[in-house]
Amino acid sequence: MDLFEHEARDLFEKHGVPVPRGRVAADPAAARSLAAELGGPVVIKAQVKTGGRGKAGGVRVVHTADDAEQAADDILGMDIKGHTVHRVLVTEASEIADEYYLSFLLDRAGRTFLAMASTEGGMEIEEVAATRPDALVRVPVDPLAGVDSAAVAAAFPADVRGEVAGVVEKLWDVFVTEDCTLVEVNPLASTSTGIVALDGKITLDDNAAFRRSASFDEASDGSPLEREARSLGLNYVKLDGDIGVIGNGAGLVMSTLDVVAAAAAEAGARGPANFLDIGGGASAQVMVDGLTVILGDAQVRSVFVNVFGGITACDPVATGIVRSLEILGARATKPLVVRLDGNNVAEGRRILAEAAHPLVTVVATMDDAAREAAKLAIAEV
Ligand code: GDP
Ligand code: MN
Repeated sequence: MDLFEHEARDLFEKHGVPVPRGRVAADPAAARSLAAELGGPVVIKAQVKTGGRGKAGGVRVVHTADDAEQAADDILGMDIKGHTVHRVLVTEASEIADEYYLSFLLDRAGRTFLAMASTEGGMEIEEVAATRPDALVRVPVDPLAGVDSAAVAAAFPADVRGEVAGVVEKLWDVFVTEDCTLVEVNPLASTSTGIVALDGKITLDDNAAFRRSASFDEASDGSPLEREARSLGLNYVKLDGDIGVIGNGAGLVMSTLDVVAAAAAEAGARGPANFLDIGGGASAQVMVDGLTVILGDAQVRSVFVNVFGGITACDPVATGIVRSLEILGARATKPLVVRLDGNNVAEGRRILAEAAHPLVTVVATMDDAAREAAKLAIAEV
């Protein structure tokens, strides 16, 4: 799961990474009293799990408690890339001389960990990587030997190298001890009081959730649709396309995403809108829940239901689809392409044919079904 900036800040502090003093506030009055307590100029920062808050107006430097209250009032409730701001972090403001970038991440392709460093901090690192790749230094990190802090610090100006090396070691300690897959500091700022981590992003490894020392705000993790899916017990990941995908079994759904992406590229559709594995059961209720989440995604224009009957045969799945459409009634608004195969397929297809639901098209193969779903996604309605 991704952490809020203030949660990352607290973990940094726990491990001795220099951070500005500060705390979160849920209303303007609380922001005001925090600002008064900190004294001097403060920064009011939207707490949302997305980047680019600065550009969106979600980060403001103010000089008085009055202005802190006003800034908090402006920022709370703001929508930043689909995330509503419920809390602000109030920190003492730093005088920034230089903004750097520093991160540790899991490098899946390289099958190792990676430290990334750049003197071009503050801006989006993807932009630096795309426009000035030479300005981004990559240092592989051996998980057993740990980080070579001098090699990472070498990416920074000579006068701050010693101090940065110390921060590099502490951030690696955060990464290992807190079971992270990402620790990112942008900007790591050179200030009048030394090197300070002014913005932190942490992704925790969910496989290590059982041994987490601290508790985090789990309920707010993920997009609203992902949260709804999680509350329904569904294995759902929001993607960016226009074709909803439902399948039974993670492997089948993953290959469905590939097939849909290819068919969408050919037809001029955007691609898969989500990953959704409804697992073995495929009861009407699971189908209702799955379709409810998928149809709640405004980008979805068609849905591909891809089921391979195994232990749960095709006929109960077909019955589940038919019953779920009855339950959804007018809430079912987008065309459904269904591909059924495997155990008891003839009976499953008979059930769907008999129901003859106007939104449902049954297609025999996975490739043809993906093409049909892509065609429906670009069709005029
Ligand atoms: P992001 O836009 O979501 O990455 O939010 P950041 O926390 O990185 O803040 C964006 C920008 O606000 C930073 O790159 C800084 O330029 C500025 N900023 C953040 N904290 C301070 C501060 O304490 N003092 C000053 N002067 N600027 C700050
Ligand atoms: Mn930042």
